[in-house]
Amino acid sequence: MSAFDWMDEALCAQTDPALFHPDRDGSYSTAAKVCGSCPVREQCAQHAERLEGGVSRALRHGLWAGHTPNARAKQAAAELAEDQETDVRDSLIRRLHQRGGMTIAQIGAEVGCTARTVHRVLTRRAAA
Ligand code: SF4
Repeated sequence: MSAFDWMDEALCAQTDPALFHPDRDGSYSTAAKVCGSCPVREQCAQHAERLEGGVSRALRHGLWAGHTPNARAKQAAAELAEDQETDVRDSLIRRLHQRGGMTIAQIGAEVGCTARTVHRVLTRRAAA
């Protein structure tokens, strides 16, 4: 069994590949319909994410799992921004906790998250 076995069920492999790589003025609409009924769409989306990682829009090509290069680039940028926001928030939680004098609930109120999130961040740090 290989990590690529799912590709055997890919509907795009049974259609015209040009549909998934239209000319500059072309449309993805027919390919998107194929993706819409593809049984391995989830695996395809995960594969595209692994393959493309955080690359720019210019390095993304073709339709994957029904998502255009623009859509995938926007999604990747949003996820990166979210990760960075989380890093900043977690760092602030740790600094407030190290400084002392605040309860978990007070730290959460200061940072704008729940006490449960504060606890999770501090516990994760302790376990690391
Ligand atoms: S979801 Fe992925 S594997 Fe399935 S048809 Fe679309 S591009 Fe091909």
